[in-house]
Amino acid sequence: MELICVNCPRGCRLSVEKGENGEVKVSGYGCPRGLKYGETEFLDPVRTVTGLVRLAGMRRPLPVKTSEPVPKARMYDVLAVMRQTTTRPPVSIGDTIVENVAGTGASLVATANIV
Ligand code: SF4
Repeated sequence: MELICVNCPRGCRLSVEKGENGEVKVSGYGCPRGLKYGETEFLDPVRTVTGLVRLAGMRRPLPVKTSEPVPKARMYDVLAVMRQTTTRPPVSIGDTIVENVAGTGASLVATANIV
């Protein structure tokens, strides 16, 4: 698996593969963060998901994000919940809009103040 590390602007090109004994082998990283990134992307990739939910009585939507990274394989489930969710103002940054979104354990939280 070839990856570009996104942890800093240097963008090191990583190569990740499974070794003969089942260990994860990462090469091409310029610092320990790249090593960790390569291992995580290979074994258990996660993403912070951002999107919008409807605001009752308003034309503008509310921007939201997951409170923590969720498994990459569950991203579309989280986005489906966002599409189905309507909330009411007022909303403050950090307010929980949906708990345990799509069963991931993460919450959907507001990223804007709406009065
Ligand atoms: S491996 Fe380290 S130096 Fe390279 S892009 Fe990632 S964070 Fe930056």
